[in-house]
Amino acid sequence: MQKRCLNCDWMIQNIETQPEDEQARDTIEHFTATGHTIVTLPEPIQLEFQI
Ligand SMILES: [Zn+2]
Repeated sequence: MQKRCLNCDWMIQNIETQPEDEQARDTIEHFTATGHTIVTLPEPIQLEFQI
């Protein structure tokens, strides 16, 4: 899973591998700094991974 911002390119990839409190802190930090909307997505979207 990943967390992704709807308003800019901010994201946390592979959130399973990061401590939950760290993700929450990063998410809140981005939200309070920018007012952006952050969503959790089930699948990584890897636009740059085209072979
Ligand atoms: Zn953002």
